[in-house]
Amino acid sequence: MLTVALLANGLVGLVIISVVVWRGDGRTDLRRCPECWYDMGATEGLTCPECGHTATSGWQLHQRRRVGRAMRAGLWAAWVAWVLGAYFALPGPWTSKVPRPLMRVMLSVAAAPPRAPAGGAGSGLPVPDGALRRSGSAWERKVWEHQAMVAMDAWAEAVTGGGGAGPLTDEELVKLVPLARDANALFQQTGDLRWGEAWVYQDARQRLVERRRAAAGEGMEGAALLLRLEWALGELQHDGTGYAWRPDFARVPDEVITRALGHADAQVRLFGVQRFGRRVHLTVMDGAQPMPVGRERIEAMAKDDPDPAVRRRAADLVAYLEGFVPRR
Ligand SMILES: [Zn+2]
Repeated sequence: MLTVALLANGLVGLVIISVVVWRGDGRTDLRRCPECWYDMGATEGLTCPECGHTATSGWQLHQRRRVGRAMRAGLWAAWVAWVLGAYFALPGPWTSKVPRPLMRVMLSVAAAPPRAPAGGAGSGLPVPDGALRRSGSAWERKVWEHQAMVAMDAWAEAVTGGGGAGPLTDEELVKLVPLARDANALFQQTGDLRWGEAWVYQDARQRLVERRRAAAGEGMEGAALLLRLEWALGELQHDGTGYAWRPDFARVPDEVITRALGHADAQVRLFGVQRFGRRVHLTVMDGAQPMPVGRERIEAMAKDDPDPAVRRRAADLVAYLEGFVPRR
């Protein structure tokens, strides 16, 4: 990216010149005429022997020397030229050229919020308008990202229990599982955003990463919150360091999977089986990844889970396990 390097060098140069010019000559210890900067160190009184200007008070002779008007105008022109040059030299639509902090403000003020979930509040995540994601308008594509960010924040808020997070309860799991599915489906949709344009929705995940870091530092006090945050990040396919685009990188923590597999609600058990399957797939592709906990449970569910859909799914998973991760 030669263009970016040139623009960056230009910016550094401009900033340095601007600082020097703005500071001016800081020698306030000298007695100088404020009009022509003649050194009046050897002159008595307030009248300049060079240009005849009379200062109204003694402190006027000790001013910081500023650059002339022409110099300042030139500096302004250089800044305008830099901004225009950057705008036309950078590739991509205008939304990629406006600085991100400004873009965030514009979106927070002007972007339409996502729709409420079809089943009402709490039944799912807010729904971003899918037509915007593939719109020809760069602004509309950004609005979709903004809506996705709002939905991901809603997922984070639900799973972390609004801050006062205790251990996950079975009642909570029933409510959270549909949201988790929505969050992961939404994350997968971000995979076909245009390269280099997609970044707004990542703010939601970055906030989670920072909360996770803070919770990890709290030791036992932060343990319940940490588990919730890891689940939240797992559905957004955070792989511990960055993020992965593959859906099977959704690393839902063992504790959540175990709780889901033993749940009374068939939908929650099905979710547990699916997330266990993704974790196994990850282990198959990358041997360094630990096997998820609960293989015996899956094998038992394949035989005698009361729900036929759960039983079928568990049986598929057992076949996969026997094929790819045979018991020694
Ligand atoms: Zn003078």
